[in-house]
Amino acid sequence: MNTQHPRIPRVALMALLGLAIASHAAATDLVIHAGTLIDGVSDAPRREVSIVVHDGRIAAVEPGFITRAGAEVIDLSAATVVPGFIDCHVHISAKLPSRTNVTAERLTHSDLDRAFDGALFARQMLQQGFTSARDVGGGDETVAISRAIEAGKIPGPRLWVSLEPLSPTAGHGDPYNGVDQGLAHPGWDNGRVDSAEDARRRVREHKRRGADLIKLMPSGGIASTGDDPHQQLMTEDEMRAAVQTAHALGMKVAAHVYPAGAIEAAVRAGVDSVEHGSFATAETFALMKAHGTYLVPTLTVYEIYYATARDRPDLLAPGTAQKELDNDPLPKKNLPLAIRSGVKIAFGTDIGEGDHTMEFQLMIANGMSPARAIQSATRDAAELLGASARIGSIQAGREADIVAMNGDPLQDPAVLSRVAFVMKGGTVYRRNGAPTVFGQ
Ligand SMILES: [Zn+2]
Repeated sequence: MNTQHPRIPRVALMALLGLAIASHAAATDLVIHAGTLIDGVSDAPRREVSIVVHDGRIAAVEPGFITRAGAEVIDLSAATVVPGFIDCHVHISAKLPSRTNVTAERLTHSDLDRAFDGALFARQMLQQGFTSARDVGGGDETVAISRAIEAGKIPGPRLWVSLEPLSPTAGHGDPYNGVDQGLAHPGWDNGRVDSAEDARRRVREHKRRGADLIKLMPSGGIASTGDDPHQQLMTEDEMRAAVQTAHALGMKVAAHVYPAGAIEAAVRAGVDSVEHGSFATAETFALMKAHGTYLVPTLTVYEIYYATARDRPDLLAPGTAQKELDNDPLPKKNLPLAIRSGVKIAFGTDIGEGDHTMEFQLMIANGMSPARAIQSATRDAAELLGASARIGSIQAGREADIVAMNGDPLQDPAVLSRVAFVMKGGTVYRRNGAPTVFGQ
């Protein structure tokens, strides 16, 4: 995978002149020779094709290894090439719970600190092959990180952000819950919703503050103090008001929800995706299928939290370790039922820091085919984002978001966790298994 990059000297010169390193491609065309291409469109992989990239977008995909006058050739003829991965459930500035005390972190870190953490984790995600991601719960720092990435100031995936999840008083998203009632912090009320009217106002406020989508927490959670994951906490009326307002503003809605009855209420209210869905039954999945609602199983977060609850319960929020031990194995156990039911499944990890490709390994180990797992992180994830015309497949007109690995992920899924090449918007961020100048 030797490639030349004639634009580096020009960009280095721009950096010397103090100009922003605009990581977007110049007018130079690129031609990628792909040994095997899983394009996110065709059912079967294609062999020996050329991907022509012009101005950061895919101009054509042609059979054989072609050249174009003046175009730089990127040789991936010995590799498997796939669309850039999309993680539909991240918290970009969240540290791994297995090595961070969540209470101490909250007491000692500001949103500004979290912005720098998020910038680091975004860079690491891009190096793992994730060229897009959906952040479903963060503060203003997530909007700032998204804008910095979009402007080419820092490397990272394209981000769709929700800001704070909408949640009722005493719900999973209420930071006052279960702690000293004298504690308070600016922003702790940003997601509070106790009526349909509140829901409409919060959705509009989030839109004004830069949100791209809305996250709801209609049921209790596991990692939070003082609430119960078995309870539905938002009314269907509140959910419906949030969904209608969000959809009217062109925003999708994700719902963190566990109990079957609450999932069904969220689906009837029109949410676009159910996150986690731990206590779903065959009937729940059938209703989701009928409504076209996506499931985002987030096996990764449960794997990590379960191990932390077992080995280092002192790191978790007060009173949550037993909830983790009781509930974390369920999504894995439920995945085969979800697959059999025919519900749409999109890839999501629910982490910031850490290895996002773990989700591939967990989905495949729990019954999903490697081809379907790749599809869940490319074509299907793009559809959930409402961005299929831009990302999620390698075909003319799409962003040149392209990942490659040595080996065949359909035979050896472990290679999905060792990507060698990452291009986003026509710029190469990783090559020969190492970050390029743009990826650092
Ligand atoms: Zn989450």
